[in-house]
Amino acid sequence: MSRYFSAKYAKLKPYVPGEQPQGRKFIKLNTNESPFPPSPRAVAAAAEAAKGLNLYSDPECRALNAKLAEVYGLAPNEFLCVNGSDEILNFAFMAFCDATHPAVFPNISYGFYKVFADLNGIPCREIPLKSDFTIDADDYIGAGGMVVIANPNAPTGVALPLSDVERIVAGNPDSVVLIDEAYIDFGGETALPLIRKYKNLLVARTFSKSRMMAGARLGFGAACPELLADLNAVKYSTNPYNINSMTMAAGIGALDDEAYTRECTAQVCAARDWTTAELCRLGFKLNDSSTNFVFAAHPHVGGKELYEKLRERGFLVRHFDTPLLKDYNRISIGTQAQMEQFIAAVSAILEEAKCVAR
Ligand code: PMP
Repeated sequence: MSRYFSAKYAKLKPYVPGEQPQGRKFIKLNTNESPFPPSPRAVAAAAEAAKGLNLYSDPECRALNAKLAEVYGLAPNEFLCVNGSDEILNFAFMAFCDATHPAVFPNISYGFYKVFADLNGIPCREIPLKSDFTIDADDYIGAGGMVVIANPNAPTGVALPLSDVERIVAGNPDSVVLIDEAYIDFGGETALPLIRKYKNLLVARTFSKSRMMAGARLGFGAACPELLADLNAVKYSTNPYNINSMTMAAGIGALDDEAYTRECTAQVCAARDWTTAELCRLGFKLNDSSTNFVFAAHPHVGGKELYEKLRERGFLVRHFDTPLLKDYNRISIGTQAQMEQFIAAVSAILEEAKCVAR
């Protein structure tokens, strides 16, 4: 830290992204990316858009909003496109929270929520999950601040029924409820149709997972136009051209190819269910996942030890070294062939440690 760094950030603990190795080849199961390439239509559209990079991108993202409206059956003015869904999360913390209006979220959830709160000087209240990793909707009624819920949750992979989501939204009429649906295409029920019924609901989505575009940095928020106006006030005060032209074009190309998204998503879900069954057979404790990852702990091999042994064998998974999560690893789902190699490696590690289920 230099002596120029503002004192207001002195205690900030930045988010630590999953490793993106540049040299050695790993089977990369650590950042919930898709193992499949983006749609060829997305790639072609981005290449075409590159020819116009001398001009600024459309700050209103009109063509992309129109396409989103067509795909999701909503209106273009119910969308706000962002540079990865992380950006809409940050905008929401900036727009809807302050020292007297805290952020309220589960104690096991996406680690960035706490960082956004700290960055913006916002107090937060973290509500414990139940012991089976589910959320009790009653804990969030009249929360007294912006409620943020990842649905399905990360890193647990557990989905909250839409009826509970609606109860939370209806139970907080004086606060925004932000439902982060980064993984919704892999399971769970979307709250998107509810944005017309509730003026306090903001739904965040990403193109990073099911649309296979993590490197493009594209996400969106969906909400009533009044909420989006607040978020736009923040956007136009930070980075009006937040989506570059190639990403915008790629997003439209991806939305033009829903069949490809559905096919790749189905393959990931099938590989996930196979992996879940195999990990259970090997003695792991894990929930049924509604996402493109599983979150698993073994009774006899520590989370960190397994992470390190997998790494030695060329597999990257995500380990969070915190008291609540340290026994677990979050394993992103790759192709079926990758998951077969992964399970073989896990079996060998357990065999070495002599704790394989027979
Ligand atoms: N929400 C959740 C729950 C996530 O796991 C992630 C991915 N790390 C994000 C949001 C952000 O995704 P992106 O910024 O790539 O859209």
